[in-house]
Amino acid sequence: MLLPNHISTQEIHLPLLEEKGIRLSIKRLDRVHDLVSGNKFYKLKYNLEEAKKSGFSSLLTFGGTFSNHIYATAAAARIEGFKSIGIIRGEETITLNPTLSFAKSEGMRLVFISREDYRKKAEDSFIEKLKEKFGVFYLIPEGGTNELAIKGTKEILGKEDKEITHIGCSVGTGGTFAGLAESIHSNQQLLGFSSLKGDFIHSEINHLLEENKIRPNGKYRIFDNYHFGGYGKSGTPLLDFIGWFHSQTRIPLDPIYTGKMMFGIFDLIKNDFFEKGSHILAIHSGGLQGIAGFNQRLGTSLPL
Ligand SMILES: *Cc1c(COP(=O)(O)O)cnc(C)c1O
Repeated sequence: MLLPNHISTQEIHLPLLEEKGIRLSIKRLDRVHDLVSGNKFYKLKYNLEEAKKSGFSSLLTFGGTFSNHIYATAAAARIEGFKSIGIIRGEETITLNPTLSFAKSEGMRLVFISREDYRKKAEDSFIEKLKEKFGVFYLIPEGGTNELAIKGTKEILGKEDKEITHIGCSVGTGGTFAGLAESIHSNQQLLGFSSLKGDFIHSEINHLLEENKIRPNGKYRIFDNYHFGGYGKSGTPLLDFIGWFHSQTRIPLDPIYTGKMMFGIFDLIKNDFFEKGSHILAIHSGGLQGIAGFNQRLGTSLPL
């Protein structure tokens, strides 16, 4: 069974926080499971339960070559006794990167498709073709966001978080943000930090909230100015920040999601966005598996 470890919330202490009169705690979802880590644990949980209840023996999903979702799905499938198929964007390389070689070692069948075909991943006719090819499967969309994923991410916040004034999270497809939005209290504000370039994310989130009938009790807001050039892009200021943050707290952050969120939170703190007395809870949504491949590809030495 897919069982969570006990997860802890850790308060961090730094001169800047002291000076501004602000508290900052981090919910370490990166430790919720050794293999199915971060928000992916919550997003997969009810999907796997549903797949099992409905009698499926295979799971199929999509992802890029460094995808946390592919990594987590491969592990969760193996643990729960499913076969798994990963449709991967891009060409197969002679040696698989650490993410894909892990997925393969967990028994995931990797199928590489062109970027052009990959764009059709949500089209019915494309899914039908995949069924002809691979037989019956339970489909998990790219990034894992669907209604059952949101049901899972609603469980990230708990009773112990009632006194928190601001919750910060990374935003990719928004499934995590949507679940958090449903569970915040009226005295709380949810801040999402988009890892993708563009203001499309605002309408996408609104759509996701409407579709899932989520009317948050508290305020919510998405920042679209901490993407560092777009999904998968980084740069020295971000990488230096991640290194600095680790040196101060011993907490590793990934350059795709959590690093951008934390950079954004610190930028907002420095610019007095938060009132004195605020207590921020940053959701560490995991993603640490991707750091090894990132370092390998870019010759960086981000801590992991
Ligand atoms: C997948 C992922 C996200 C994005 O989650 P969404 O629900 O798609 O917004 C954020 N952080 C990490 C570490 C992830 O792996």
